[in-house]
Amino acid sequence: MGATHVTRAEIFRVNWTVTPDQEPDAKLNSYAQECDVCGVASPRTHDANDGTLWIIEHARRNPSHTSYTEVVKRPWRAFMS
Ligand SMILES: [Zn+2]
Repeated sequence: MGATHVTRAEIFRVNWTVTPDQEPDAKLNSYAQECDVCGVASPRTHDANDGTLWIIEHARRNPSHTSYTEVVKRPWRAFMS
């Protein structure tokens, strides 16, 4: 019978918390709209209203394009608690 080797591993448990980043140095939210019919997207800006105006203009030029998806980028932060 050979010797049995047991390797022990220390497992350090760390609790992480994640939250939207609202620190002063956080990136700004940014917004874009995508047309669900043709896939064209608006420019990405920091003002959600820009995307709304883009939809109005896109729908005016393409009256059958009536469904859109807003794509929001919002910064998050992770920290050990
Ligand atoms: Zn479209």
